[in-house]
Amino acid sequence: MADPQADRPPDRMAFLTTPRRPRERRDPRERLGDRHEVYRPGALLPIIGAQAARCMDCGLPFCHRACPLGNLVPDWNTLVSRSDWRAAAARLLATNNFPEFTGRLCPAPCESACVLAIDGEAVTIKNVELAIADRAWEQGFDRPQPPERSTGLRVAVVGSGPAGLAAAQQLTRAGHTTTVYERADRIGGLLRYGIPPFRLEKHRLDRRIDQMREEGTRFRTGVAVGGHDLPADLLRARHDALVVAVGATACRELEVPGRRMPGVHQAMTYLTLANRVDEGDLPASPLSAEGRRVVIVGGGDTAADCLGTALRQRAAAVTQLDINPRPPARRAPAQPWPVHPKVYRVTTSHEEAGGEEAEPRVFAATTVGFEAGADGRLAGVRFAEAEPGDRRPRPGTARTLPAELALLALGFSGAGFSGRRRSHGLAAQLGLALDGHGNLARGGDFAAASAGAPGGPADGVFVAGDAGRGQSLIVWAIAEGRAAAAAVDRYLRGATELPAPIAPFDGPLTA
Ligand SMILES: Cc1cc2nc3c(=O)[nH]c(=O)nc-3n(C[C@H](O)[C@H](O)[C@H](O)COP(=O)(O)OP(=O)(O)OC[C@H]3O[C@@H](n4cnc5c(N)ncnc54)[C@H](O)[C@@H]3O)c2cc1C
Repeated sequence: MADPQADRPPDRMAFLTTPRRPRERRDPRERLGDRHEVYRPGALLPIIGAQAARCMDCGLPFCHRACPLGNLVPDWNTLVSRSDWRAAAARLLATNNFPEFTGRLCPAPCESACVLAIDGEAVTIKNVELAIADRAWEQGFDRPQPPERSTGLRVAVVGSGPAGLAAAQQLTRAGHTTTVYERADRIGGLLRYGIPPFRLEKHRLDRRIDQMREEGTRFRTGVAVGGHDLPADLLRARHDALVVAVGATACRELEVPGRRMPGVHQAMTYLTLANRVDEGDLPASPLSAEGRRVVIVGGGDTAADCLGTALRQRAAAVTQLDINPRPPARRAPAQPWPVHPKVYRVTTSHEEAGGEEAEPRVFAATTVGFEAGADGRLAGVRFAEAEPGDRRPRPGTARTLPAELALLALGFSGAGFSGRRRSHGLAAQLGLALDGHGNLARGGDFAAASAGAPGGPADGVFVAGDAGRGQSLIVWAIAEGRAAAAAVDRYLRGATELPAPIAPFDGPLTA
């Protein structure tokens, strides 16, 4: 049946008459009974054309500039409002290898920079992206793109998170024989073992990996490059170029009394085990929150994922200690449009905990120690009010929350190349320099900086994603993977036709 919207010109005044409608989520009580994605399947399509039509196609699309990928937002909004899904998919996939991930998981700096958001409600850009991405898979617009001919050149990509995968897909499509090496037993990086399935069901990741295999990308799992499995210099010698995309997986520590007692764990240990249950590796998590009082220390995505996971495991109670003060409800004057602002947000996990009325977060709370019970296991988490500014505990404010499980979600401190947590010899074997944060230093065009020749590049070695930026976002990982692939192609052939994102910039718009 012909689509009635197909030939209709977009209504450029729709932003005046059509209110923003977010994507419909399942009832939180229903969500807590399973680990499927929180959104109601199929609920997006009936509303998305009208939502896309709210785009003003303004002369200065700050949304496009705010996206590290340079997503062509006004273009696909127009095409979706005309129901031209095939063309919309082509425009979306021209700048983003994995819109099904960003459409679900990106904090959407594009929406913060939408012109409508100056004094109203932004276009639901992320939802339009997701609708196009899912439709592209369903209708076969996102097909494998094997190269027409091989260059005969070999590239190794170390790490299979979104940065490594984006780099590998681009390099394979350019005709290079590309192999991804991953130390874990499955491909995907933090998309696989960090983010829970209620935010990204893993069949979506598997489908993308299958597509990459069909295009010719090779995958080797269970290979820690730089360790006993495979020395990094040997890998470099066997390839014409190397992309290091090993992430920033060294968890930040909290050195307070009691840190090592049973019951206190890193959030990533907890989330990885829960994800392994979903993968079918374990019948149940050995680190379950079931029946326990849980305290999560931290305030970001990882903490929210621990909260959603603990609620699904039927924790007796969950409290989250966030060292930062409660953010304002609206942009602070110091974060004017189009900056992506720090504002108070209720994530889907916080919604499941009861929303703002039953707020599980204690803001401006600094954790000062862990207290043991008679059995030597964790019995309480001691915290105090954090002084504004230096965040030191305010005298006389300390109190103890009873807890049997404490999860540390304090972020990541680089890839673990330096210091006590040195995890592998990859940097040393390749002679790579580190920056002041323990990340891999880079010169221009994503080339790794050489430790031996300060300021100079390590020949044929490139760095993409969190390994170079420090902990960041999926959209940045994909953007850097694409840009690094273009840099590798230029290095190998002297020129490239691979598209790179608009010069990745660290300007004030980025998250
Ligand atoms: C719990 C959690 C939730 C998050 N939620 C969001 C979100 O909602 N939105 C968002 O935008 N971002 C989110 N992030 C951040 C996002 O996941 C990362 O920024 C992104 O995954 C970085 O991609 P990457 O490819 O650089 O590294 P990673 O995804 O970390 O992948 C690196 C890979 O390299 C492998 N590796 C490391 N060393 C070696 C070696 N020596 N040899 C072989 N392989 C190696 C690792 O095993 C890993 O698989 C979240 C992070 C966490 C932890």
